[in-house]
Amino acid sequence: MHELSIVLSIVDIATAEMEKAGGQSILEIELDMGCLSSIEMNAFEFAWMQGIKETALEHVVKKVNRIEGRARCLDCSNGFALQHFYDACPACGSHRMDILQGKELSVKTMVLSQAAPSP
Ligand SMILES: [Zn+2]
Repeated sequence: MHELSIVLSIVDIATAEMEKAGGQSILEIELDMGCLSSIEMNAFEFAWMQGIKETALEHVVKKVNRIEGRARCLDCSNGFALQHFYDACPACGSHRMDILQGKELSVKTMVLSQAAPSP
């Protein structure tokens, strides 16, 4: 499943960062997820519950920032909101555009616990 492999890579990245910082567990994690990143949110939530089991993220509080797609038309310089990659410029119908945002998929911030986890 596409979403599960994404969750597992987030867990890997977060765990590596935690170990580098000497933390014991991760209390909070904030993710930037662009609306153009081809992730189905329901599937992602389900994969998340599976993927964090028995990891340092097991009890994490997750925040997701959904970042809307935005593009600028290369033909008429119109800036517009983009729901899908195949959308055309609403002003001139062109498909030549710069994607300005919406492809993000990253860990933005994490809050670590330095103390030993309570039983
Ligand atoms: Zn245009």
